[in-house]
This record gives sequence, C-alpha cells and structure tokens, in this order.
Amino acid sequence: MNFSDAFGQEQVIDYLKTVIKKGTIGHAYAFDGSPGIGKTLIALAFAKILLCKKMGTEPCDQCSSCLKFNHHNHPDVHIIEPDGNSIKNKQIEDFQHELMRKPYESQKKIFIIKKANEMSVSAQNRLLKTLEEPPKYAVIILISSNVNGFLPTIKSRCQVLKFKRVGERKIGEMLEKNYGLSQKEAKMLAVFSNGIVGNALKLMESQEFKDNRDKIIEIIEKLLSGDQFSAFQMADFFVTNKEQFEEYLDIMIFWFRDLLILRETGSEELLINQDKKTKIQMQLDTVEYDRISNIIAVIEKTKTDIKANVNFQLSIEMMLLNIPGGMKW
Ligand SMILES: [Zn+2]
Repeated sequence: MNFSDAFGQEQVIDYLKTVIKKGTIGHAYAFDGSPGIGKTLIALAFAKILLCKKMGTEPCDQCSSCLKFNHHNHPDVHIIEPDGNSIKNKQIEDFQHELMRKPYESQKKIFIIKKANEMSVSAQNRLLKTLEEPPKYAVIILISSNVNGFLPTIKSRCQVLKFKRVGERKIGEMLEKNYGLSQKEAKMLAVFSNGIVGNALKLMESQEFKDNRDKIIEIIEKLLSGDQFSAFQMADFFVTNKEQFEEYLDIMIFWFRDLLILRETGSEELLINQDKKTKIQMQLDTVEYDRISNIIAVIEKTKTDIKANVNFQLSIEMMLLNIPGGMKW
C-alpha cells in the first residue's frame, strides 16, 4: 500500500508529499471524490508514511511499523466503516475514546472514517467536538463521495482534497500496460469506467458485465432487424437487472453512438466498441441515420426518468417503443 499503487491522483499525492516533507501535517482531512477513485488507498499510503520509523516521504517497507502496517495489524491505525448504512453515534463515541489514548508505538495515530459524508447530523455534531480540539498526535481522514453532505462546521475544520476523474486514454493505457489487456478491450473498459479507475478494474474482472454486454448487443441487433419478440426480451432483461440499469443503458448509448460515428466519419478508429467493429459495420444499413441521434436522446431521457423515480417498467417500455423494430402497440 504505497502512493505508487494509486493511479491518476498525482496532484493529491504531490500535495501530501509536500506536507510530509515540510512537517505541516494537518489534524483533519476530507478526501473527496467518486467511489472507486482511490481515496482509501491514498489515505492508507499516507498513514503508512506518517507511521514509518524512517520518517521519509516514502515508507521504508522494512521497519517494524511498515511491517505491521503491511500485515494490517498496526495498533495506531484505525479504520471506521459504517455499521449498516451509516456511521452510528456509538461508533463515533468509541472513536473518541480511542483517540484520547496516546499512540502505542508511533508519533501519530491515524483514523480513517469511511463514507463519512453519510453520517447523521447528530453523529457529525459529536465528531465536531473532536475536530475542534484534536490531540496533537491525531490525524483524522474523512473519506467522502460528496463533501456537501458535511455540516459546514465540519467542512471548515478539514482540509478538503479533491480527487478528480482521470482521462479515458490514461486509464486505457494503464489497463494495457499493467494488466496486459488488448488495446480494444482496454479502450472499451476505459470508456465505461467514467474516469474512475476502480470502475475499470471492477468491470475488467466482471464476467457478468461482459456477458450482459454481449446480451444487450445481441438484442439490439435483433431489434434493428425487426424482430418483435426481442423488445420483450429487452424489457425482461432490464427488469431482471434493475440495479445496474445505468450501466446497461450506457452500453446501449455507446452502441448507438458508435453507429452514429461510423456513419459520420467512416472511421473505425473512434469506436468505443472496438472489439465489435464487424457487428457495427453490419448494422449500419439497418437503421436510418436520422433516427440514431433520436434513439440516443431517448435512452438518455430514460436514464434521467428512472433516476427521477418515474416507473421503471414504463420508462423501459417507452424507450423500446422509440427504437425502430421495438415495441409497437
Ligand atoms: Zn518504515
């Protein structure tokens, strides 16, 4: 667990390294950014350096502290995770007791609070007291996916470090280099990752994602060729996979986007679905050019509607009505 294990967050890492070098380590940080972007990983790497006996800007990976850290049994690191949906008052109380005990073997004592932005107001108020007057040795890192979920009083007592999304190209290159993926697959996963490295890695390992992507593409193919039954298959598919509707609607959007791009530019270079070029070429003649952008807009609207709690099944059926070869009644 070192800074070098993180990907694409150079700005945050450079900042933390400067802080370590200057010895101006704060008592409270909020690491803010999308889930999967590397906040906890960097928090742990930061903690490891702060605890390392060599006290450099990198952990030595040899001292007793680094070894304990690597074995997940360092007594001066505490990770607090939600008990159920959110961090409970009781957990904050326990944390406060622990905080008052001096570090066992290091200069610092590190607390990493996960999903901190989902804490209830009363838990946050309790935490506030600690942030107002933390002991000298304490470093508290709040992990958050939405810094606006904090009370302003909490926010103002933390240094907020923003974790930004990474460019698709960079993620693609990393997948090729570090995981030996083909350029085609790396590019496709990078686009679906939305600039979040954790998403790319999750998708890479998910056979379910690959199978379902194939299934969706197959149904689109049938839809476009006028197979009436496939619309019902598609509706069923979405009902079964309701939880991941956004991901699967994206698969559809990217597919039609590729049709549009290939039609407009004739260039296969720009396609997202690099591994399915032949299929895309074959479908080009089955759908009218003018309709493609309309279809993309319909799928986008379906996404927005479902997020706004419009009836799920109705939204999907409305969408299928608007795809050529889709539902007709
Ligand atoms: Zn060390």
